[in-house]
Amino acid sequence: MPPAIEISGLTKTYAASNRQPPKEALKSVDLTIPRGAIFGLLGPNGAGKSTLINILAGLVNKTAGTVKIWGFDQDVNPRQSRASIGVMPQELNLDPFFTPRGSLEVQAGLYGVPKGERRTDEILDLIGLSDKADAYARSLSGGMRRRLLLGKALVHSPQILVLDEPTAGVDIELRNMLWRNVRRLNEEGMTIILTTHYLEEAEQMCDEIAIIHQGEVRARDTTANLLGSLDKKTMVILPKEPGNVTPPEGATLDTRPDGQMEFTYRTSQTSADAILDAVRASGISIRDVKTREADLEDVFLELTR
Ligand code: ADP
Ligand code: MG
Repeated sequence: MPPAIEISGLTKTYAASNRQPPKEALKSVDLTIPRGAIFGLLGPNGAGKSTLINILAGLVNKTAGTVKIWGFDQDVNPRQSRASIGVMPQELNLDPFFTPRGSLEVQAGLYGVPKGERRTDEILDLIGLSDKADAYARSLSGGMRRRLLLGKALVHSPQILVLDEPTAGVDIELRNMLWRNVRRLNEEGMTIILTTHYLEEAEQMCDEIAIIHQGEVRARDTTANLLGSLDKKTMVILPKEPGNVTPPEGATLDTRPDGQMEFTYRTSQTSADAILDAVRASGISIRDVKTREADLEDVFLELTR
């Protein structure tokens, strides 16, 4: 079976406008996303995440490269490839004069879903908008609109669901609701691709991750491997009194304005013991010690430096 997504040599150059020079937003990207995954596309603002998503969605024309969705080449089988994917865009782009029910029905019509096969009520229930089904979109809160965008991405029962920064700027309740839905859809067999610049979110949600920066894929691995590839740890020591410490070989020290000493070290080069010894050797007594494992933030900084 072909993978969910197979991208090769994908390049996008936005044409110059009167003020901006041309922009190469994607530089020959190769990326394969397996079926059944919750896959995270991570990167800072401007990395090219939305450009990639919008090419998958057929909203942006690529400059070069091939894109296969569920085995269908976008250029050869545009209808089948489009039918295989549903995209929840980053922007709120709802017609204010449609009700949630109306929006879902229109969307189903656009995708050619016959009336008898529409799942409008089921989707309204899933996104928690059954009681707002017939309210005008302009009377919906921001969170409700976002849920409606998720619903619209699902009307044609796509095999792949793509969410572009679904939780940027949303409250905790909506975030939890979105993640519950996403997990459930994934358990039912849907492949999920999400973009985010919240590392913690990707760490919690995603099986596999690609890190994209300045239009290039810089890393691509399972979340566990990406984290495991770093043997970096941080130890924060709160001293009883200020003082100077020479960190042991393999460790660096950053003393914060509040006096806390943050040691970053490679477990392959030095140990927590060696750091504690160095602190004690300089005559400082220790009030408190905390350690922290590397997280995706560290991976990210290391890769994009
Ligand atoms: P991300 O979603 O990772 O924040 P984008 O894909 O939106 O990144 O943008 C990637 C780069 O392409 C940015 O430098 C952005 O300014 C530029 N860009 C995005 N859309 C357009 C456009 N329609 N015209 C010109 N440049 C664009
Ligand atoms: Mg974006």
